[in-house]
Amino acid sequence: MINPKLVARIIAHTDTKTKLRLAKVIPKLGKADEITKCMLCPNMCLHVCPVFDAERRLTVSPSVKARLGYFANDPSYEVFEALYRCLPCNACKEACPMDISVSENLREIRSKFKTELGEKAKNEFERRMEEVERKMSNKERDGKILYFPGCSTFESNLFDRTLELLEKLNLDFGVSPDAICCGMPYMELGYIREFRENMEKLKKITKKYEGVVSNCPHCVLIMQENGIKAAHILSAIIGAVSELQLRGSNVLSEISYHDPCILARKLGILDEPRNILRKAGFTVHEPIYTGKETYCCGFGGIYRFIDPENAEKISERRKQQFEYEIVTACPSCKQSLNARDIVEVLLDVL
Ligand code: SF4
Ligand code: SF4
Repeated sequence: MINPKLVARIIAHTDTKTKLRLAKVIPKLGKADEITKCMLCPNMCLHVCPVFDAERRLTVSPSVKARLGYFANDPSYEVFEALYRCLPCNACKEACPMDISVSENLREIRSKFKTELGEKAKNEFERRMEEVERKMSNKERDGKILYFPGCSTFESNLFDRTLELLEKLNLDFGVSPDAICCGMPYMELGYIREFRENMEKLKKITKKYEGVVSNCPHCVLIMQENGIKAAHILSAIIGAVSELQLRGSNVLSEISYHDPCILARKLGILDEPRNILRKAGFTVHEPIYTGKETYCCGFGGIYRFIDPENAEKISERRKQQFEYEIVTACPSCKQSLNARDIVEVLLDVL
C-alpha cells in the first residue's frame, strides 16, 4: 500500500491545479508501492544518469522522471517532455536498491499519449528507415543464418565490412531487404501498434532461418524479447575464428574497450570481446567506467532524436574517459565515439 503520509506531504507542496490532477490519478496507481519505495531512497541513481550529467536539471534525473511518470495524466502537463529523456542505458537500474527500471516505466507512460515531440521523433526515424530500405534493396542473398544489420550499422558504415568478415569466415548467412528494423524507436516512443506490426513482419521473415545475428545489441535484445532466436554478431564470429588465425595476426597494439550498455548490462557479453581482442594480440585497457558500470555513448535509444545537442555532450564526456584508441561492439557506440568496431578490427588482423 502507498504510504498516505508521504502522499499527503507531496500534495501539501503542490499548486491547486496539480492537486486536482493528483487526486484523480492516485487511486488508479497500480505501482504505488514502487513510488513509495523510490521516495524513501536517498537518490542512489542521480549520479549515474548520463542524461542528468548532460542537462544538469533535476527534472530529467531518473528518480524525478520515475515519480513524474506515475503522476503524468495529460501530455500537456509541463513535465511531460522530460519523460522522453532517457537513453535507455539502464545505469539507474544497476544502481537502484529497489530494482526499479525507470526506462521501462517511462516507456509504458509514453505509450499512453501521443505528443508533438513523439510524432516529430517518429517522423525522423521513419525518414531514416526509408534511406536504409533503399540501401538494402539490392543486397538480398540466401543463407542459413539471417544477417540483420539494423539501421545504425548502415549509418556507421559497418554493413559492407561485416559482410566481408562473414564471408572471410565462410559463414553461411543470408540478407533480406525486408528485414531492416527491430522497431526500437516505435517501442521507445510509445507507438505500440506500429511496433507490433513491424515485429509480426519480422517474425515471418526470420522464421525460415536457423537464427539471426546482428551488430546492434538493442536489435538483438528486442528480437530475443519477442521470441526470435537472435544473437550478437560476436557469437557467430567467436565460433568461427580459429585460435590459429588469431595467433597469426601478431598485432601488439594498445586499445581501450568500451562496453555498449545493452551488450554489457542486458546481454551480459563482457569477457568475450576482451578475450578475442587479447588473443588477436592487443593489450586491452579499461576506461574509468567499465563492464556493467559502463557509461553510455549518448546515441542509445531515442534520446538523440529528441535532443541531438545533449546526446553529443554525453558522447564528448565519454570520449574523454579513454586513454587509447576506442574499440567497441555496437554500431551506435562506434558512430558516437569515433571508435573502431570489433568487426573492423578483426577484419584487419585476420
Ligand atoms: S529509481 Fe531507484 S535508485 Fe533512483 S531514487 Fe528511486 S529507488 Fe532510488
Ligand atoms: S536508463 Fe539511463 S538515461 Fe534513462 S534514466 Fe536511467 S540512467 Fe538515465
